[in-house]
Amino acid sequence: MNPFKLASRMHGVSESATLKLNALANQLRSQGIDVVNLTAGEPDFAPAEEAKEAIIENVKRNRSKYTPTAGIAELRELIARKTNIQQPAVSASKPWTAKDVVVSNGGKQAIFDALMVSIDSGDEVIIPAPFWLSYPEMVKICQGKPVIIPTKESNGFRLQPDELKRALTSKTKAILFNSPSNPTGMGYSREQFAALGAIVREHTANALRAGGAAPIIISDEIYDLITYEGFKFCSFLEACPDLRDQVVTVNGLSKSGAMTGWRVGWTVAQPAITEALATLQGQSTSGINALAQYAAVAALQVDGAWIEGHRRTLARRRDSALAQLRACSKFRVLAPDGAFYLFVNVSAAFRAGEDSAAYAERMIEQAKVAVVPGTPFGAPEWVRLSFATDDQSLSQGIERLIANA
Ligand code: PLP
Repeated sequence: MNPFKLASRMHGVSESATLKLNALANQLRSQGIDVVNLTAGEPDFAPAEEAKEAIIENVKRNRSKYTPTAGIAELRELIARKTNIQQPAVSASKPWTAKDVVVSNGGKQAIFDALMVSIDSGDEVIIPAPFWLSYPEMVKICQGKPVIIPTKESNGFRLQPDELKRALTSKTKAILFNSPSNPTGMGYSREQFAALGAIVREHTANALRAGGAAPIIISDEIYDLITYEGFKFCSFLEACPDLRDQVVTVNGLSKSGAMTGWRVGWTVAQPAITEALATLQGQSTSGINALAQYAAVAALQVDGAWIEGHRRTLARRRDSALAQLRACSKFRVLAPDGAFYLFVNVSAAFRAGEDSAAYAERMIEQAKVAVVPGTPFGAPEWVRLSFATDDQSLSQGIERLIANA
């Protein structure tokens, strides 16, 4: 008998399906099998030279010591400044300062820790579907209850105010928003966020009057700088500045700085939340790798033309992939507002009894192309294709899917 007994908080927690499929595609490729990998959840471009130089320079200077738990002052200052620029309505009355920032190991830890400090056993966390697949699993680890609200394709997969209103209860402790979204690419406009914020405001007033607790909003803005024509990124708090005390803005450099492996993310939030996050980090990771922080200081000061160049490349790929997919009558695809994914309804290409997970497995075998099934994102008829890959692989991968539809 195995002497190890798994803690109950891990019961029913799934492993990351995207990481698993990416690993499978890479493994097949290493065996010489020609698999086109469209699963990437990270940019295919390199970090800015300034960020790379900063790491090398700081290695040479022996800057190898522990840093302050919440992050080095210079980095927290730059993050506060970036957030103030994205939230002028907030900063006009009460600007964020370095003290409101905790730097964490990627956006993932930022979200996880925000849940850890706010969720008690049985608390409800509202997650609009399709969602980034880690959200419900993180809530389960925190022993909370994920409340999944399906959104409609006809609404561009955007949560509607009445849908949010119906889902809120006296047990709601947190709401997760993600704009632009992984996996759908949709983004919320200022008006759409303002309408959702109005529901939160009304619910909060009622909850406090009844002696209950206000829910916090975790706004995951990790794809803020990767947006396409016709969409203007809006930070949730910019649309609802009066909700300042109950919002945790999450961001990081994984996507917009092409620094996924260096693990730089952060939270910006009011002092009571920030203190709890810093305490949690102080007793768990002691903060993030010092060198990654020095790189982040450099990355946050890189000229905007750097990301703009990469954004344009992604926009061109997005448009050609959309045109290619739309030529196939079996596929239905929405034009993403941001991020680097195409969310495609492939149900017309399913064999009897198949869902997107079975379809994705069949596509690796049959078409030699790896895509991420929508099933773990709460969307079993859909798959996610990443266009953070070179033009040739992208068009070849889509060609193979079409040939096997
Ligand atoms: N949030 C979303 C929506 C993501 O897609 C990801 C990464 O895929 C993250 C957060 C976490 O990013 P990081 O690599 O910074 O932990």
